[in-house]
Amino acid sequence: MSTIADNLGALAARIDHAAQACARDPASIQLLAVSKTKPAAAVREAYAAGVRDVGENYLQEALAKQEELTDLPLSWHFIGPIQSNKTRAIAEHFDWVHSVDRLKIAQRLSEQRPAQLPPLNICLQVNVSGEDSKSGCSAAELPALAAAVAALPGLRLRGLMAIPEPSDDRATQEAAFARLRELQEQLGLGLDTLSMGMSHDLEAAIAQGATWVRIGTALFGARDYGPA
Ligand SMILES: *Cc1c(COP(=O)(O)O)cnc(C)c1O
Repeated sequence: MSTIADNLGALAARIDHAAQACARDPASIQLLAVSKTKPAAAVREAYAAGVRDVGENYLQEALAKQEELTDLPLSWHFIGPIQSNKTRAIAEHFDWVHSVDRLKIAQRLSEQRPAQLPPLNICLQVNVSGEDSKSGCSAAELPALAAAVAALPGLRLRGLMAIPEPSDDRATQEAAFARLRELQEQLGLGLDTLSMGMSHDLEAAIAQGATWVRIGTALFGARDYGPA
């Protein structure tokens, strides 16, 4: 059985290799360790191996883990769907939110961000696969949403995030990530972040400009429960 440290080493090699293949600096790609369904002990092990950024999808689960890990200087990223009644706790307990797709949620996060903390880093989640059921704003909604979010004082708009329909075909994977990159370029806001790529498609995401890859399974192993 491979340990988290072994898995992290293998991921660093995958990221390096993918970066070299498209002549990017590997240091421009950061790994977000997605620990949903995994215990605090696994996050502690990941920290010991070098992980500093942790992504969580479910608020209660995240807060419980944070409580157990207060001794570690981790950055916490919220990456799951956001209900209005959860915004205060998210604004108080996270450094980044990757999954903002509505202005109302952004306004609440901005108002509720404690004044003594730096602005909350925000990625807008965009639906690049055109599936009705998925979270994320549409490409048509994005320019107005981005302009409005960029003006909110408690937030710092950093970039875009997407979770494309899973595909095993490299060209299909890259087409979805290219769409997100192009949408970011078209905004013309000088945003520096593209949160895209997971365990199965990080190479395609890096080829299209990912700056955060969000990795769960390839780091912590298969999840025992919860969404795939
Ligand atoms: C679970 C999850 C991931 C990690 O997925 P893996 O395929 O396990 O690497 C990344 N991003 C989001 C938004 C997730 O919910």
